[in-house]
Amino acid sequence: MTSMVQTTDLTGQMLIAGTPVRGAGREIRGIDPQTGSFLEPAYPYGDTSHVEAACAAAADAFGPYRNAPVEQRARFLEAIADNLDSSRDVLVERAHAESGLPVARLTGEVGRTSGQLRLFAGVLREGSWNQARIDPALPDREPLPRPDIRQRSVPLGPVAVFGASNFPLAFSVAGGDTASALAAGCPVVVKAHDAHPGTSELVGRAIAQAVTATGMPAGTFSLLYGYGPDLGSALVTDPRIKAVGFTGSRAGGMALVAAAAARPEPIPVYAEMSAINPVFLLRGALSARAADLARAFVGSLTMGSGQFCTNPGLVIAVDGPDLDAFVAAAAEAVAATAPTPMLTPGIAENFRTGVETLSGTAELIARGSDENAPAVSCRAALFGSDVPTFLATEALQAEVFGASGVIVRCADDAEMLRVAAEVEGQLTATVHAEESDHAKAGELLEILELKAGRILFNGWPTGVEVGHAMVHGGPFPSTSDSRTTSVGARAIERFLRPVCYQNAPKSLLPSAIADGNPDGMWRTVDGQLTKD
Ligand code: NAP
Repeated sequence: MTSMVQTTDLTGQMLIAGTPVRGAGREIRGIDPQTGSFLEPAYPYGDTSHVEAACAAAADAFGPYRNAPVEQRARFLEAIADNLDSSRDVLVERAHAESGLPVARLTGEVGRTSGQLRLFAGVLREGSWNQARIDPALPDREPLPRPDIRQRSVPLGPVAVFGASNFPLAFSVAGGDTASALAAGCPVVVKAHDAHPGTSELVGRAIAQAVTATGMPAGTFSLLYGYGPDLGSALVTDPRIKAVGFTGSRAGGMALVAAAAARPEPIPVYAEMSAINPVFLLRGALSARAADLARAFVGSLTMGSGQFCTNPGLVIAVDGPDLDAFVAAAAEAVAATAPTPMLTPGIAENFRTGVETLSGTAELIARGSDENAPAVSCRAALFGSDVPTFLATEALQAEVFGASGVIVRCADDAEMLRVAAEVEGQLTATVHAEESDHAKAGELLEILELKAGRILFNGWPTGVEVGHAMVHGGPFPSTSDSRTTSVGARAIERFLRPVCYQNAPKSLLPSAIADGNPDGMWRTVDGQLTKD
């Protein structure tokens, strides 16, 4: 395959409706976390005039884009996926230089990103995203006739997406938020994350090329660089933007939620923020495999320097010799870890201060090595606490983004259930259980399904499958809106709303709800799912 984009021809420019535009503001550059050195080229920030241009183009594109045949939209998503796959080596090389993330992980991330786009192409063709419902007219109904009532979903309008720092591909320019918004029929304006400006440019060009190749309106996609509180806020408050997708810190996400709510026309913000992803080790599991569990836990905790929103930062178990064995094996595994690069100097500094705060409130169990540390690095940390201290100390429940975890020793099962009930909302909760633990696991499940978006048994939460049944979301503060997911087929629902057509002339009905089911989709007719 010929690579669609080359790192050698990076330009440092934004892309507004397919046209490269150079900003005139502060210049940022990617930073290689291994060496701390700056990478070329410089990316000058844009300003509100660029937000204005991108939003105007997105608003112009909205009508033609949403009315383009669904098959054309599916082919557009597939064209982006093809462009990413054909540029895989170039993308991985640049993303590795900018993020320090391992090449194998980034190679998988390209496949995940293109796979995500293809998943949504399949979702579009399958059609149930339309939520098509028809209640046929009942002209003879007494005492009043029922009108003909039909429902389908329409896209919200242009969407602002904030690329994440920790997934330069899968949660960034062409990541899940962009893929699901484009699938829904919404043009997208992305604010690139400063952690990987070059990767963002390469991916932006892959999307812009697909826009042209599949005949979509130019304003369907724009990519901006700028400072969050200036350019990012201007984007969220632009009246033409109708929804926001975000992955990052709680402070950043909540700032965008507040800005969106204060608009004359408030809009939804789907912010994925912070989680510590509790892991419950039940008695039978601990007794059967304490040391194996400990090694697997540390593997998950330290993977990618712990820079995952699903990082297992909290382990909860009942005190006793089996937990002692787990703690001893986990301490040994943590102490054996080498320092690894972190995404940005800012994230590394947040990690350092987070670990420092934990050191003042919890018992230090182990630290990883800091020998031969990269310039911007993470040194793993493991702490211990008891339930009264854990529940009374805010810092112990706060996300420390990186390879840092806390083990909470419970006096008995009741304390374990109390932690489950009092912990904040989470993206994931994990239960390790043997057959003998199932009664206790059932009690826990009853609590955890109100706390987390995904509940795992006998696994580890890092690694989120992209599929039809996945939920990557959860109650506040893990997200700003727990009713949805940012990964998987149902992510499209965030950018759609239902419209009801009452007694509409047959000739005006959209094909999704037209007589004779011309699209051949599953529809709910008079309460029954049917393809008739
Ligand atoms: P961040 O600071 O929240 O930034 C994410 C994006 O939002 C950036 O583009 C940023 O722009 C923008 N932004 C931040 N505050 C804003 C504001 N007040 N108004 C408008 N835009 C704003 O997240 P980060 O840079 O990825 O990492 C910082 C911390 O976030 C980490 O240390 C970690 O604690 C957390 N984090 C959590 C997750 C997770 O999945 N849970 C993922 C990544 C990071 P600027 O950079 O220009 O301000």
